[in-house]
Amino acid sequence: MRADVVILGMGGMGSASTFHLARAGLSVIGLERYAPGHARCGSAGGLRGFRMAYFQDPAYVALAKQAEALWRSLDAEFGGLFSQCGGTLVGPSQHPVIEGVQASSAAHDLAVERLSPQAQAQCLPGLNPPFGSCVLWEPRAGVLDALACDAAHREGARAAGARIFSGLPGVHVSEEEDGMCVHTPKGQVWAQWVILSPGVWFGQESLGLSCPPLQTSRQIQGDFVADSRWEECLWNCAPAGVRHSFYGHSRGDGLVTVGQHLGGRPGLGQEPPDLEEKGRIRDFVRAHLEGLGSPIRWRVGHSIHTPDQAPLIGTHPTHERVLLAGGFSGHGYKFASAVGWNLSQWIQGESDLSALSSFRPQRFTFDARACA
Ligand SMILES: Cc1cc2nc3c(=O)[nH]c(=O)nc-3n(C[C@H](O)[C@H](O)[C@H](O)COP(=O)(O)OP(=O)(O)OC[C@H]3O[C@@H](n4cnc5c(N)ncnc54)[C@H](O)[C@@H]3O)c2cc1C
Repeated sequence: MRADVVILGMGGMGSASTFHLARAGLSVIGLERYAPGHARCGSAGGLRGFRMAYFQDPAYVALAKQAEALWRSLDAEFGGLFSQCGGTLVGPSQHPVIEGVQASSAAHDLAVERLSPQAQAQCLPGLNPPFGSCVLWEPRAGVLDALACDAAHREGARAAGARIFSGLPGVHVSEEEDGMCVHTPKGQVWAQWVILSPGVWFGQESLGLSCPPLQTSRQIQGDFVADSRWEECLWNCAPAGVRHSFYGHSRGDGLVTVGQHLGGRPGLGQEPPDLEEKGRIRDFVRAHLEGLGSPIRWRVGHSIHTPDQAPLIGTHPTHERVLLAGGFSGHGYKFASAVGWNLSQWIQGESDLSALSSFRPQRFTFDARACA
């Protein structure tokens, strides 16, 4: 088989890349090791939070602005994908996240409002903020139905001519005289460009390419029965003295999902959450969330982290026809639409990826076995 571009991994990043490339008229082959939307992919579980006032780096804000426009356009075409319900952020006023969000919103002219206790009680009545917290409200934040967004991207890509194969992994990538060759258990696929977007499998098998140091970790979420105080919402709460903040969201369907951002055990273990893992979330729920009953299910997800917790987006340091979209460090879904769009622009010669310079893979040393 031959195409202009072959993409390994049909999760958030790969599906969005397939969509934008196929719509631009390029021939695209998407390979997915399992079935798209499988239970271990990065979109599993459904909702993903979208925010713009990122505190870490201004580059995130530029990417989030692009992503917002692209999600809105996808939502207008397919429906039911993106709801800008607003987001609440809670923490001590000197907390780096709170200070950073305020600085980022000032620098980028993003609407972020400090809520009085009365206003907070009105907009998120079930949240009982830790004593002395500052409560911020970002109206353009919201929730994405990640599985539905991925499916929409793939449907749009197929309609534009992309060929997507399930149960077909890329197992080796080599650079040959007449292009890039991706080896699969069923034969070779040839292309001018390869996009690697294998999620937490990045670096698990070498594919014949070097990679930067990456670490995987478990991310536990619980779905709690909720009373009528809980409408559609997104929130993040950093109690003083707790290293990693808690987050949650709801579709307003009588369930609230609660998890802890980062701090999960290393590895790709599939075992159900144990008492300690559940206990951390339960303790937070008891202390700060009102109107929640028992959890009806627990989910184990995984995320893959770079040393600086920022993604790898751009060309592979030693293979300029291989583009990387990985290492999203537990907070990448919101950018998937913009990642796909930027990679598509780069392949078409329409962009120099300078908007993504903070995420250049070259900032790390690549070697043959660099994944934990
Ligand atoms: C519990 C949890 C909560 C999160 N919450 C948020 C949030 O609120 N907001 C946010 O922005 N982000 C969030 N994230 C992060 C976000 O979900 C991920 O960064 C994002 O989904 C990663 O997308 P991806 O395309 O890189 O990986 P995936 O969606 O996992 O896709 C990778 C795909 O590649 C396939 N694959 C692997 N190897 C190969 C191969 N060799 N050949 C072919 N196919 C291959 C896999 O089967 C998989 O389907 C969260 C993550 C978790 C786990």
